[in-house]
Amino acid sequence: MIADRLFSITALIAVCCLVEITLARDAIRLPKNLRPYNYTVRLRPDIYSSQTDFTFSGSVLIDFDVVQTTNKIVVNQRGLTPENFFLTLAPDSIPANVPRLQELIVKDTEEVFEILLNGDLVQNAKYRMLLIFKGDMPVMGGSGIYVDYYTENGERRHLVATQFQRDATRTAFPCFDEPEFKANFNIELERRESRTSLSNGDLVQTIDLEDGWKRDIFERTPYMSCYLVAFVISDFEHVEFNSDKGRRIRVWVQRSYIHKVNFTVSVAGKIQDWFEDWTDYEHQTSKTDHVGLPNKGGAMENWGLILYDENALLFDPENEPVSFKMRAASLIAHEVAHFWFGNLITCEWWSDTWLNEGFAAFFQWEPLGDVLNWNHGMMQHIRAVNSIKGMDELESALPVYRPDVQLPSQAPSAFSRFTYSKGGALLRMFQQWIGKPIFQRSIRRYLKKFAFKSVVTQDLWDCIQDELEESGVSNFNVTENFNPWVNQRGISRIQVERKSNNLDLTQNRYPDFSGDDNYLWPVPVTVVTEGEAPGNNNVQFTLRQRNDDFTPNNLGNWYGINSRGSGYYRTLYDKAGEDDLLRTLENDISKVDDNQRLIIMDDNLLRFDKSEIKEVEALRFTKFLRNEETAGPWNIFSQSFQEFYSNIVDISNDTALRDYTRYLVDNMYGKVNFEPVVGEAELTKLTREVVSGLACGFGNQQCIDRALELVNQYRGDKDNNPIPADQRLNAYCTSLSYGDNTRENFFFIEELLEETNSLPEGDALFRSLACVSSVSLVNEYLDRLLLNSTTYYDDAGRVARMFNLLDNERGRATLIPRLNDFWIGDYPQGQISLTLVKLCEQTFQESKANEIKRILSERPENFDYLWDILNDNQNWVAEEYGNIRQWLVDNTPTNYELKSVFTGQYHNNQFVRYGSILDFENY
Ligand SMILES: [Zn+2]
Repeated sequence: MIADRLFSITALIAVCCLVEITLARDAIRLPKNLRPYNYTVRLRPDIYSSQTDFTFSGSVLIDFDVVQTTNKIVVNQRGLTPENFFLTLAPDSIPANVPRLQELIVKDTEEVFEILLNGDLVQNAKYRMLLIFKGDMPVMGGSGIYVDYYTENGERRHLVATQFQRDATRTAFPCFDEPEFKANFNIELERRESRTSLSNGDLVQTIDLEDGWKRDIFERTPYMSCYLVAFVISDFEHVEFNSDKGRRIRVWVQRSYIHKVNFTVSVAGKIQDWFEDWTDYEHQTSKTDHVGLPNKGGAMENWGLILYDENALLFDPENEPVSFKMRAASLIAHEVAHFWFGNLITCEWWSDTWLNEGFAAFFQWEPLGDVLNWNHGMMQHIRAVNSIKGMDELESALPVYRPDVQLPSQAPSAFSRFTYSKGGALLRMFQQWIGKPIFQRSIRRYLKKFAFKSVVTQDLWDCIQDELEESGVSNFNVTENFNPWVNQRGISRIQVERKSNNLDLTQNRYPDFSGDDNYLWPVPVTVVTEGEAPGNNNVQFTLRQRNDDFTPNNLGNWYGINSRGSGYYRTLYDKAGEDDLLRTLENDISKVDDNQRLIIMDDNLLRFDKSEIKEVEALRFTKFLRNEETAGPWNIFSQSFQEFYSNIVDISNDTALRDYTRYLVDNMYGKVNFEPVVGEAELTKLTREVVSGLACGFGNQQCIDRALELVNQYRGDKDNNPIPADQRLNAYCTSLSYGDNTRENFFFIEELLEETNSLPEGDALFRSLACVSSVSLVNEYLDRLLLNSTTYYDDAGRVARMFNLLDNERGRATLIPRLNDFWIGDYPQGQISLTLVKLCEQTFQESKANEIKRILSERPENFDYLWDILNDNQNWVAEEYGNIRQWLVDNTPTNYELKSVFTGQYHNNQFVRYGSILDFENY
């Protein structure tokens, strides 16, 4: 499952103000004395008799084994009202006594029905119980059985949908709602003529009932956990096709979007076929439905019926950037991967969630190499690995395997980004460590052995161990080598010191949290050297102790650790090693694999983020960008330097940083230019997105001219947007920072924002507004945000716009003299403090800091907390800025110096696109 609540712009805006609501629940774990194996569920959800209150009625037959004699049945339920209960022997049981019902107790806090019998259920006998019940369906509940809606031609159209993971199947019918209790499910849904119903299996029969109701009977599901049951009752339309392997696949969305599912159709079948080939294990349902729901957020891998937020299935290549395409394809691959990893084999309990989600996170990139010819390894880095490494450096980091998760109420924390992204990153490392062929054969063995069962982590290790041994590898202990990676939180950093032809290695958790556990990892070390081809796959050495040394092959004059970037660790070189590596990169970038270049940049730029080195030292690691052509390093650069840029840009009109950045970027901009080229790689598009954002933002005249030309053309003919999909944010932003038409463009963009119903387009328009650079325009914008703001935007919109504007140096400069307006107009009072913190964090120019202090000290409120921030920034300027400036000037050729005063605005929104709506909040 992927929960993604940041799918809409409104949700994005509201995120700063959300308060997590925790329900008073204290659900218990079920006893293991009964095991269900077959369910027949019949439900009649009513979305027809009311527009506001929705109920359903239903019955469930559960056949179960008695593992241990008991006179009590405990089944999960949440919010259900029981109406009747019957018990009999199951058809395939041994002869046994059937006790009678003594009492059915509804325990709402524990989320169970406790069914007391007047005698024992006999061990080894099989029983069948029937429960009849009623329940309510919340509107847009997002969990359990719920009602969703969309509007068509002004009419609200209701539909029924489900989200049962982790433990909400119990809202729809009484069940054994834990992943290890697998069973077959026969689903029967009752509906009116006007709707279609879908469930995991294919429709086998429709029966006409009284009063215009119909009953759809679906084929039996595979043997599976009950959180994978799903259904939808809607009036959606669909596209149907067969994959190359002849698998039936359908894509369902609301009628007016059906023309936008072409991309999903083009990849969904290929991806599913890929998994059949890779795993050598047949797909298990006779059809796969991909359904886009209006207000879901995220996606859920129900077997045969994947439910998504509809935005995920609606990629429009003409008008949406490649980053959304990557997102759409990888999300589909993630969910389809679960058919094998999660559905066929399921974690026994949520402490092993990583066996579901880590695998899905790994396999959401893997097939895209073959299916779409994408550089999937680098995409995984850009989208998932880099950010999870950053999170793993926090004191709050969590391990991948979570033995502490025992109760249902603790389960949500097992669905953290560590389980997903780090789990996926570790699998990539393990794959490189034991080699791709053995990795694949191990996983095939694991699937064959544990299909339709539930597993714990050791089961996976055992399969890999067996495969290694069968392949003749006898000296590799899988449990010893792999367990520390999933059991220990945090990330390791290897400090390298070269001693003649030896490398001396020391490992420590990074950063060093004093008093923290004394972690050690078995670190697989890969090395590229002067004498080795780049991208050497082999692990040359495993560092097991705190400190050890080894002699790499052909060390020569330089070397680089983590040669394919798959190792989940950081590297810190000694000074000479660092110099040798940087010199190599500047002379011939191709000596080092592109994924390793990304790692080198990431490992080192973060040292400046963590104040471990000075900015001026970190800048050394940016010089090779002049020759860099791949998306990864550019991406890291733009993300890591976001803060740095905004600090420096605030200080003065000094163009040193702008000149240097333009020097770095001009080369690559000259290669990618503004317009996409037919047939080019997706990552080239992504590189262009980053590079041209920097080029236009830092004064590349060709880039600026082209952006202005296209926006002006668009303004003249609003029905035809000539701006390439990947350049929208950049072009809109540029059109508000440069040129003669910034005023017209500003109001044009506001108008477009009002009219668009495309999420990516809306996102680009919204964020570009903060690029506004003319002082009079910023003042008008501030009037709207601070004074007569309710005319224009709601509270959340106002705060989000203000936060965006504060990333803009001109926005800050114009706001400061108007600080008192925060208390004059209707800016949300609860947000003033946070807004001022953000302003001060980004204020570095002394005169601005002084003006803030002067204005705020005349107010009655206490602002001591701001003075520290402002003073820290001033100290930083005094100590660092001179050196940084000198370095920038020294490293920029003189012909890159801007002769005139720089007038454009660079807005660092360019940087954050991978961290905004493209990210999963609860990955
Ligand atoms: Zn998932």
